[in-house]
Amino acid sequence: MNVKKLDGEYIAPTYARFPLCLVAGNGSRVSDENGKEYIDLGTGIAVNSFGVADKEWIAAVTEQLGKIQHTSNLYYSEPCALLAEQLCLRTGMKKVFFSNSGAEANECAIKAARKYGESKKGKEYTTIITLRDSFHGRTITTLAATGQEVFHGDFLPLTAGFVHAEANNLEDVRRLAEEHPCCAVMFEVVQGEGGVRPLTKEFVQGLRVLAEEKDLLLIADEVQTGNGRTGMLYGYMNFDILPDIVSTAKGLGGGLPIGATILGEKVADILGAGMHGSTFGGNPICCAGALNVLSRIDDRLLEGVRARSQYIFDELSGAQGIRSVSGMGLMIGIECEKSASEVIDGCRQRGVLVIKAKQKVRLLPALNIDMEELKNAIGILKEVCAQ
Ligand SMILES: *Cc1c(COP(=O)(O)O)cnc(C)c1O
Repeated sequence: MNVKKLDGEYIAPTYARFPLCLVAGNGSRVSDENGKEYIDLGTGIAVNSFGVADKEWIAAVTEQLGKIQHTSNLYYSEPCALLAEQLCLRTGMKKVFFSNSGAEANECAIKAARKYGESKKGKEYTTIITLRDSFHGRTITTLAATGQEVFHGDFLPLTAGFVHAEANNLEDVRRLAEEHPCCAVMFEVVQGEGGVRPLTKEFVQGLRVLAEEKDLLLIADEVQTGNGRTGMLYGYMNFDILPDIVSTAKGLGGGLPIGATILGEKVADILGAGMHGSTFGGNPICCAGALNVLSRIDDRLLEGVRARSQYIFDELSGAQGIRSVSGMGLMIGIECEKSASEVIDGCRQRGVLVIKAKQKVRLLPALNIDMEELKNAIGILKEVCAQ
């Protein structure tokens, strides 16, 4: 079967795919339709938290699959309640709304923030400040939130009520907060799609103070940075702040589609009965997968994430053909002398899968990638960059 041909004929042409069809794998090793093996440092964009075909995760998911696959939110469901409990206990936040993707997790955060502004401050307090070079999703509203004009042009008019500040410039945020009737500031602690750029601690902590002063909610978009990716359970935990809302998705389900909007004290009950919903949200199988993933993101695993991160930074910083290395934990951006595409193609030919973020090569390996496999892959990446 020629998958590439079929895809070209029948799939909407929204994706520029690498010339590769992945069919199976084991941990951080994946194989294509011809049986060629690769070490995967992309994990389906930070989704396969424990790699591919992880036995424990499969057992948790299939156990639930054998019981009931879907209930709808007309009924109570145990995996969903247990997962919400874990998310709250481990963040200190209060309640959770479940959806199916990052964009939806952000949509819920935006609705909660607007409702908060409207009920606490007045009807017009609906503006949300986001950062330039941010990425918050592909729906019309999350596109409006996304501070990158390249994504906007084709789909105007976008949802009104978003203004964009310069990242790491607290004065710019303050200015916007004073010029517009605002209810919230939304940010990624490490801008993923924007080029793997961490915010400064000073800026993030400054946002917390400013938010108190102006009665704004802090919304941490942890769709990519969440679930162990940065070396802490959630990225904000590296910055010693507590947001008012945390949205997450990607790595939470370990490969199954789930989004979660975790609501803090101020907004725990702001969305009442009938104000929001999702048919698939809180699906028992996705929740069972997420429960398994969360239960395994403990101190020891996170220490391993930080150690692997340090290894990658040490190996790549100052290496031949590499201009800079940025990021946090196992979310790493590499600026190379060659173009990112050239490096990605070179790596793929030699059996290593890496991806792109803006002009950088991006690494998002499994949180538990085997150290020997990581060493092999980084060795190959270094050679490709140096050639
Ligand atoms: C990927 C991503 C999203 C969008 O998630 P989808 O599941 O593709 O809708 C939103 N925010 C951030 C920070 C992301 O990295």
